[in-house]
Amino acid sequence: MKDPVGKPIGPNTQLVHHSYTAPAGFSAFPVAIHHASTVLFESVKAMRDRSWLEKSSYTYGLHGTPTSFTLEARLAHIEGGRHCLLAPSGLSAITLIDLALLQSGDDVLIPDNVYSPNRELANWLSQSFGISTRYYDPMIGARIADLIQSNTKLIWTEAPGSVSMEVPDIPAICAAAHDKGVLVALDNTWSGGIAFPAFERGVDISMQALTKYQSGGSDVLMGAVITRDAGLYATLQMAHMRLGLGVGMDDAYLVLRNLPSLKLRFDAHDKSARTIAQWLSTRPEINKVLHPALSDCSGHEIWKRDFSGAGGLFSVLFDPQYSEVQTDRFVESLKLFKIGFSWGGAHSLCVPYRIEKMRKNWDESGVLVRFNIGLEDAEDLIADISQALDGMSAPITK
Ligand SMILES: *Cc1c(COP(=O)(O)O)cnc(C)c1O
Repeated sequence: MKDPVGKPIGPNTQLVHHSYTAPAGFSAFPVAIHHASTVLFESVKAMRDRSWLEKSSYTYGLHGTPTSFTLEARLAHIEGGRHCLLAPSGLSAITLIDLALLQSGDDVLIPDNVYSPNRELANWLSQSFGISTRYYDPMIGARIADLIQSNTKLIWTEAPGSVSMEVPDIPAICAAAHDKGVLVALDNTWSGGIAFPAFERGVDISMQALTKYQSGGSDVLMGAVITRDAGLYATLQMAHMRLGLGVGMDDAYLVLRNLPSLKLRFDAHDKSARTIAQWLSTRPEINKVLHPALSDCSGHEIWKRDFSGAGGLFSVLFDPQYSEVQTDRFVESLKLFKIGFSWGGAHSLCVPYRIEKMRKNWDESGVLVRFNIGLEDAEDLIADISQALDGMSAPITK
């Protein structure tokens, strides 16, 4: 290679600039991983003409590459939405929605069973940013109309609450909200975006923790915000840019790689989880099985009406005769189930929650333990739970 005036170029320049371009026409199934901060323009005019808001071209890595555009388009399609924005975690997707739609003086309604960091964020917005935050009974349904004030801008919903599993009446909440011009956001993570058609049920914005089923590997943190509405999307897109949210393309690739098996995995989690939940409901140690497909679960009838599946996450309430010491021992004596947060991966998990400390209102007694049913064989998981339950009643030696 020669320099611009025809001299041979130096070794460092040679390492940076090279003339080889791979031949065009490569074709394969995987989406290419395009890493870039800088995006190149063929001319100053092209640079000036392009807008980061248009996803028909490229301007800067933070605003997207072919890899992230493809993931966004596929996620929007899965949920029947039109627009999607990626965020570095499920929680940052929640933050994006709040910061895009709320300003000081506004009011937001949040279900009492909401994902705890969503609550933490809302409390922070209330204490430090002048946004009024009120909590409602997740089973409120159409009566939410009574809580809507003139400054209420947003109603959060979660279907079901990911610890206590109440299934809310989303269509009723949406109808009441829209009647008064209020937007509804749904944390739709539990359904993986495939077992609950958020937009058909009336939701304005669906949020996903892709960390769960879409990634499926317990190895990625990512979130998505999806909508059908172009105006809402424009508002979200500005907040997304102002907050500087972006995701790594290797991570985007990992999610893309696992999307083809999303429904197969979800259905397999669902089948095992229902088998195990049914079995648990016959055990004397368990007072209630909080699984939307079982009648003990608040909102079971709504689940039957509105959902097409259930996935792998559910909780149980132990009989109140068992102390936390005993239920902790149950969790620790499981062998296949590991102790850890999150879900949607291949491995089964089990976590106890001090639910009465998480809620304004909690009337149930007995320790709550949450299961994530992975992709192991259901009979092995049942045998594991069975031996741990049997060990729970043995006298405590120490
Ligand atoms: C995990 C989870 C989130 C947050 O996702 P992260 O990627 O871990 O931040 C939000 N909502 C629900 C219901 C979740 O389970």
